[in-house]
Amino acid sequence: MLGCARPVTVSEKREPLPTPPRWLVILDAGHGGFDAGASGTATGVKESELNLQVALLVREALEDAGVQVVMTRTGPEALGSTKREDMARRGQLLLTEGADAAVSIHMNKFSDRKVRGPMAYYQAGAAEGEKLAAAVIDSLTEALSLKPRHANPGNNFVTRIPVCPAVLVECGFLSHPEEERLLQDEAYQRTLAEAVARGVIAYLEGADTGR
Ligand SMILES: [Zn+2]
Repeated sequence: MLGCARPVTVSEKREPLPTPPRWLVILDAGHGGFDAGASGTATGVKESELNLQVALLVREALEDAGVQVVMTRTGPEALGSTKREDMARRGQLLLTEGADAAVSIHMNKFSDRKVRGPMAYYQAGAAEGEKLAAAVIDSLTEALSLKPRHANPGNNFVTRIPVCPAVLVECGFLSHPEEERLLQDEAYQRTLAEAVARGVIAYLEGADTGR
């Protein structure tokens, strides 16, 4: 929730975005088209499809909180016919001028099928990215009633390219039998998405980007 000094009545809750919006967030649904990413061990579900479903729910939650969102993709296709084209186009969008944060949504997979739960990666050495990733993983573990987890340093295209703080969220493991099922459940996806949005907003409120 965004802090608001005056009482808000029910009828005011669905007013359009404040003009101008307080923040601009780049939201990336990982993979797409020819690049399906990981697949569910039991069901074969494509990571690219789940990423998009969750990312669209994150967009909804951010927009409801008055955040402007630019998505790298809103459909099933990749951003080009080759990996190189896709990365070039995704990279351009990740550099959208005026962005306050970049968030990339992915699903995880691991050989040990007992490993589960969300993870948040920041670009190693990026102090603001680390704060953003910490806020997101805190929000996710709280929403899912999990033990607190640290954000993880990494080196990924989607956290390396943006000039704004960036986080790659691995929502859960497609190799864990129960989590593979949950990650396809719309109510669970919404819980994840709303937690990601709350974490991003908590970071932005603390960072005070001056909008
Ligand atoms: Zn992925």
